[in-house]
Amino acid sequence: MSSEITRFHTGPDQQLTERFANRAALMHASEIRSLFAVASRPDIVSLAGGMPNLSALPMEMMAGVVNKLILENGAEALQYGSGQGHPFLREQICEVMALEGIRAHPDDVIVTTGSQQALDLISRIFINPGDVVLVEAPSYVGALGTFKQYEANVVHVQMDDQGMVPEALRAAIASVRASGQQIKFLYLIPNYQNPAGVLLPAERRTEILEICQSEKIFIVEDNPYGLLGFDKPSPNAMRSQDSENVIYLGSFSKTIAPGFRVGWALVPPSLKEKLVIAAESSILCPSNFAQLSISGYLADQPWRDQIASFCKLYRARRDAMLESLEAHFPASATWTKPAGGFYVWVTLPPEIDTTALMPKAIVAKVAYVPGTAFYADGFGSWSMRLSYCHPTPERIREGVKALGGVIKTEMENRQIG
Ligand code: PMP
Repeated sequence: MSSEITRFHTGPDQQLTERFANRAALMHASEIRSLFAVASRPDIVSLAGGMPNLSALPMEMMAGVVNKLILENGAEALQYGSGQGHPFLREQICEVMALEGIRAHPDDVIVTTGSQQALDLISRIFINPGDVVLVEAPSYVGALGTFKQYEANVVHVQMDDQGMVPEALRAAIASVRASGQQIKFLYLIPNYQNPAGVLLPAERRTEILEICQSEKIFIVEDNPYGLLGFDKPSPNAMRSQDSENVIYLGSFSKTIAPGFRVGWALVPPSLKEKLVIAAESSILCPSNFAQLSISGYLADQPWRDQIASFCKLYRARRDAMLESLEAHFPASATWTKPAGGFYVWVTLPPEIDTTALMPKAIVAKVAYVPGTAFYADGFGSWSMRLSYCHPTPERIREGVKALGGVIKTEMENRQIG
């Protein structure tokens, strides 16, 4: 029998697409997704994607964990489970969160399919078309895409190299309210922010919490990178100071591996039921197999040491990137100096359009993400996100050098000083 699969065409695409619901029109591939095909060519140094570097994860040990799980507890691991997530893993998640000062009860934890799913569920529950969601400027592209699909009006709040500026938050709240719009929540990433790489200091965390408490605004604290501080632990999570007004999102994607797709939300008790019902309607329950693999790993393996070895690996790459930016980028460029996480945010002279520059960078065999991907309003055209998590330090040096050359040539052609 032929193994060839025939694809039958049932008519022009339009026949199907014109039946789509209105909301499908709001579903676009992110700029990062469309870059992936090019950026993953082996000849290109990709400073574009934020894929965790799994070269430091001992695969034999992971194979042992999964093997033991199937042999000893396969009937549970391969069965449906609780919509809220496995009770034992939820206890272990509380231990992980304790590292960032959070005291939580496992009943208030909901396991999700990556923290991306938690973003979707929260948006589904809170956002009516036209509602305002406040976010950092710039912010995580995956969150912006989700908020937009639920027709939020995304309003960016100014950041500096210490994260969101509290004064700017006050001003944004006042201006949104003056225009009669409703603010549903403030979404922020306090640790080694994606895409800016900056850390929100403890004093600002408190100040932002106080502003939101007095203005009665929920905070969604998204924290996938919190344990990836290179030199010292990150300040306590905002959730550690407020269990009523903060929805906290965590993930094992960066500290263990993203392929398990295990994240979680820690929510105020009044939100829990809705969130579980919303989750059940999309996935019935998070994968028991993935949850119990993570659980077995946390129970039996030195996971804190493993995180330390990830940090060592990322720190060497961060150093390679910062050194080569210093050596090869024009003097008029500025960039952030991340103390953890995956990303550096580069700002160029405003005449340089980083989207238009991309084809030239690809010819020079390097890829990055243009800054506009991280804004809902088209801003950011002269900035770019560079991620150092994946390539080797040598390849990072090569890529940054090539990119510096492309930018300098562009500046000369446009006679920018
Ligand atoms: N939030 C932020 C800030 C991220 O950078 C990412 C992944 N890049 C996510 C959420 C989603 O992560 P996951 O679904 O793998 O937990």
